[in-house]
Amino acid sequence: MASLSPLLKQATPVVVDYASGSWIHGTDGRDYLDFTTGIGVTSTGHCHPRVVEAAREQTGKVIHAQYTTVMHKPLLELTDKLGEVLPAGLDSVFYANSGSEAVEAAIRLARMATGRPNIVVFQGGFHGRTVAAASLTTAGTKFSAGFAPLMAGVHMAPFPYAFRYGWDEKTAVDFALRELDYLLVSRTAPNDTAAFLIEPVLGDGGYLPAPPAFLEGLRERADRHGIVLILDEVQAGCGRTGKFWGHEYSSISPDILITAKGIASGFPISAIAASAALMAKGWPGSQGGTYGGNAVAAAAGCATLDVIRDEGLVENARVRGEQLRDGLRLLQDKYAAFADVRGLGLMQGIEFADAAGEPDPETASAVQQATTPRGLLTLTCGPAGNVVRLIPALIVTEAEIDLGLECFGHAL
Ligand code: PLP
Repeated sequence: MASLSPLLKQATPVVVDYASGSWIHGTDGRDYLDFTTGIGVTSTGHCHPRVVEAAREQTGKVIHAQYTTVMHKPLLELTDKLGEVLPAGLDSVFYANSGSEAVEAAIRLARMATGRPNIVVFQGGFHGRTVAAASLTTAGTKFSAGFAPLMAGVHMAPFPYAFRYGWDEKTAVDFALRELDYLLVSRTAPNDTAAFLIEPVLGDGGYLPAPPAFLEGLRERADRHGIVLILDEVQAGCGRTGKFWGHEYSSISPDILITAKGIASGFPISAIAASAALMAKGWPGSQGGTYGGNAVAAAAGCATLDVIRDEGLVENARVRGEQLRDGLRLLQDKYAAFADVRGLGLMQGIEFADAAGEPDPETASAVQQATTPRGLLTLTCGPAGNVVRLIPALIVTEAEIDLGLECFGHAL
């Protein structure tokens, strides 16, 4: 008899029977308001009827056709639909299955295009769990400890974490850019640097939006030195932040954009987008895999993008995100350990700190665990695990946000 690995069994006390919209119905007979959405994946809510129907219909036509051998219609359609939302100039799209694989595809492309070895990443960044993606991840040692050697050529620069430094945003940005300039002469020369890789909002690193001035500083340095700017929009993309892409809060656009998670409401598919000229510097056979760009996942992706547009979900994420943050700020006034509330759209984090202002993962974890018996599913994140994150579906209603805040208050 087999049993689940203890790595999985510890994960959650809830077993899903079925799920719909913002709700998970457990085998214990209870309903849970889901503010985890499979870690930011079920963007249109659980089992949106249009997504279910698109996947059902596609399953009856073709489930899998390997995309380097035979192309299929859903992937062509998804590419057209992405063309309507991608930043101008990023008109060439390549597909994989997961965020980590897309991250690997992006850095592989950057290295092939520049002929340079090094990648600069930013403190607190999370880019996945394959060995290469874990090598690029600095959100905490649990992601990369114990299976060294990691991929070579990765250099970490500071992220402007103004709250933790106790600085204003401008001071933090100036500091982080100065440190980056120093890194570019001390540890990796600009002409050895293939790419900067950054999330527009740190996800596992603590739900920290990158200040627009910081992204603009990276863009300027990337242009000056011929470095490829890669934005990992795996968690922040597809409407989550109240704009379609998280980087739209700044004036920049990337050379390579990575998307996954919310793009197909739970079906595994990911993509990188770049200019056709940059994409042409890779070569067929160097990227992808057997299941990349699966037909059913692509059909679900098409339906997801249609639903996001037709139901105005980007705007809903903005408005409901403000409601959520305002409600959390009211709670903040009552709880001393509630040190910072931040995020964009429906990507909100609460950082917990002790009386000395030091990260307080014990309280964060206790609060997160206390939400489940009160009918609300939440997650933690942050380098020290001291941030509780709330990631409702983009279809979440005003009443559901109010209910979530009430449950969260009880948990506190
Ligand atoms: N990049 C970011 C920003 C993520 O949040 C994640 C996953 O949480 C990944 C990459 C890795 O994605 P996956 O778990 O699909 O491999």
